[in-house]
Amino acid sequence: MSSKNYIKFLGTAGSRWVVSKQTRASGGVYLQLSGKKVHLDPGPGALVRCAQAEPPIDPSFLDGIILTHSHIDHCCDVNIMIDAMTGGGFNKGGVLFAPRACLEGESRVVLSYLRPFLDEIVTIEPSQSYRLGDLGITTSIPHDHGIDTFGVTFDTDGRKVSFLVDTRYFPELPAAYAHADVLVVYVTFHDEPPHPKILHLCVNDVKEIVRIAKPKKVVMTHFGISMLEADPPKVAARLTDELGVSVIAAEDGMVVPIDST
Ligand SMILES: [Zn+2]
Repeated sequence: MSSKNYIKFLGTAGSRWVVSKQTRASGGVYLQLSGKKVHLDPGPGALVRCAQAEPPIDPSFLDGIILTHSHIDHCCDVNIMIDAMTGGGFNKGGVLFAPRACLEGESRVVLSYLRPFLDEIVTIEPSQSYRLGDLGITTSIPHDHGIDTFGVTFDTDGRKVSFLVDTRYFPELPAAYAHADVLVVYVTFHDEPPHPKILHLCVNDVKEIVRIAKPKKVVMTHFGISMLEADPPKVAARLTDELGVSVIAAEDGMVVPIDST
């Protein structure tokens, strides 16, 4: 990998049907930013996708794991990733960032015996800033997703890389992700979701977000069936024309360089 700072998609699946059939992989995103190695939302298959990546990603070198929320397509492999990051507790270290609902209460997802293997567990709150060495990590306002859910913006050498994860659209959303150098948007539906209880974004929401937030580059991911049927690269090309901003569709294994040049 020639680029110092980059993100790599270990999965781009975004609905239970796409995840359960593994039409797209669901391993989350690996980030190498400001000298830190981070795994964001290790969904089903995260560890396998690390081992099968080209070149392979060794989780024992991870500095941190971030969960945005406790839905299974985002956190399924968090325990095995903690185990792999810490050598089964023989090489303690690393930081876990997660909302309270992932750590406490009935819906907690992190096994108790693994927690002492970590250097630190940070309970993330909305609109707060954290650090992992030189890497800045800022959470978004709460998303409308039925459970504690926060997007994340990374500040890496003065560049902003935002992950606008699962949520229903709401008017305050775009401003919370303003002026990203790279905005990764989780677009599960092509058209409006068929029921108001489905708390995910569609393509029209992306248009509204991009017009207001004015990112320099947009990457769509987390695709459901309707997005895959619409062919994400074609949707991205149409959005690029319409919005005048570079929009690309993530593929499994795709690397996006985040460089200052
Ligand atoms: Zn979700």
